[in-house]
Amino acid sequence: MDFKLSDSQEAIRDAVTRICKTFKDDYWLQLDRKGGFPIDFFKAMAADGWLGVCIPEEYGGSGLGITEAAIMMRAVAESGGGMAAASSIHVNVFGLHPVVTFANAEQKRRMLPPVAKGEVRSCFAVTEPNVGLNTTQLKTRAVRQGDAYRVNGHKVWISTAQVAEKIMILARTTPLDEVRKPTEGLSLFYTDMDRKAIDIHEIDKMGRKAIDSNELFITDWDIPARDLIGEEGRGFHYILHGMNAERVLLAAEAVGLGSLALARGATYAKDRNVFNRPIGQNQAIQHPLARNWMELQAAWLMTMQAAWQYDTGQDAGAGANAAKYLAAEAGYSACETAIMTHGGYGYAKEFHVERYLREILVPRIAPISPQLILCYIAERVLGLPKSY
Ligand SMILES: Cc1cc2nc3c(=O)[nH]c(=O)nc-3n(C[C@H](O)[C@H](O)[C@H](O)COP(=O)(O)OP(=O)(O)OC[C@H]3O[C@@H](n4cnc5c(N)ncnc54)[C@H](O)[C@@H]3O)c2cc1C
Repeated sequence: MDFKLSDSQEAIRDAVTRICKTFKDDYWLQLDRKGGFPIDFFKAMAADGWLGVCIPEEYGGSGLGITEAAIMMRAVAESGGGMAAASSIHVNVFGLHPVVTFANAEQKRRMLPPVAKGEVRSCFAVTEPNVGLNTTQLKTRAVRQGDAYRVNGHKVWISTAQVAEKIMILARTTPLDEVRKPTEGLSLFYTDMDRKAIDIHEIDKMGRKAIDSNELFITDWDIPARDLIGEEGRGFHYILHGMNAERVLLAAEAVGLGSLALARGATYAKDRNVFNRPIGQNQAIQHPLARNWMELQAAWLMTMQAAWQYDTGQDAGAGANAAKYLAAEAGYSACETAIMTHGGYGYAKEFHVERYLREILVPRIAPISPQLILCYIAERVLGLPKSY
């Protein structure tokens, strides 16, 4: 068993870190205050080809695995950019997985190269206000009318919808009472964001202000039938297929942000003198930081194991869910410790750690809550009765 990163994986981490380091703490602080998409950062990552890391080479990407993407996303978050940086490129890096796996050749040629080059930004629209985590109950309807699907419905929390040129959307094409199982009858589309038919309202939220989150009101939107991915009615299965990989990436981002917070906490503990000695000389300050290091290390090992399982075609369900859970909890704890280590200054924006705490809640909540992961492990690993 070899736990060391390969030379090429180390090279990926170092190259990504070099780009990210040109975007200083104040860049992210300003965006956190004022909002606005980090377009310079997005362009810099696109220019060096990082957005296409998981897209096959024949469509302009690098054709690498989730392991490499996770190493990259950890480096992005850990560099200082946190979830704002990671979320600005997250959908480009992995969101097009259903197209890579299930689209026809014409669609792949049309859809993938612009994403790999960073010529378009895409958003991903699944969540609905009255449905929550019970995705099979989605109410947004798509009805076939000639060469198009007419879509009506309501989505919520859709990140980057203010700036995205493209949208991947899940909608019901066959009513629930006409399907054998609720997982059937949902269809997936990747298409142009038609702002005439979609009314987009930004949600005023707690953190990650640079990455807008939105409510979408969709009225009589005609999506060309050629933008349907795969077979009509199989959309839920296509989304499920990429879910484990997405959890691995979120886990990597949470470990990155947690490690960033830990580094800041440890540095401050060495530098800050109270009672004529560094505060880091006190065990009450040392121990939480040491515990955070261990928790983050363990979460990273689980993340890398799940990535390896995914890339080698093994069942990554339990590993990816466990990684996402452990990484988000470890990251949250590290961000909280960083604030407490800073004392009063931890509450000041110019020390950055309060921003990290607000951002780490995103991978804790989304795309699946910690409670539902515990339900999954209880049912699928421990064989307990399904509870939801
Ligand atoms: C910043 C941010 C960005 C997001 N970006 C996107 C995006 O780009 N695209 C997108 O589609 N979605 C996005 N989301 C939505 C996100 O995926 C959902 O918020 C998340 O899946 C939880 O769904 P919900 O908010 O409807 O919670 P609910 O389903 O309403 O759940 C509320 C709480 O109840 C708990 N709960 C519910 N049922 C059970 C049960 N049976 N047992 C135990 N506990 C239960 C949940 O765990 C949770 O804690 C984003 C969310 C946030 C906060």
